[in-house]
Amino acid sequence: MPSANELQSALTRLRDNPRVRLIRVAVADEACPACQALQGAYAKNAVPVLPAEGCSCPNGRPAVYYEPVLDEIYP
Ligand SMILES: [Zn+2]
Repeated sequence: MPSANELQSALTRLRDNPRVRLIRVAVADEACPACQALQGAYAKNAVPVLPAEGCSCPNGRPAVYYEPVLDEIYP
């Protein structure tokens, strides 16, 4: 699972990539309810900060990560 710092640098990379259309918040099964609630795809300027406020994921490691939604999925 990523650390908070790794999540932030991943988000910055995705935002800077012009091929990335949306940014999806992917949530693992073991994620806490606060993180589960953020699951979904977001516009680049509306992506929620991970880990969620009040995160209580196991072992202090947020079970969430950012995923790109690319423009060229359907060629
Ligand atoms: Zn959490």
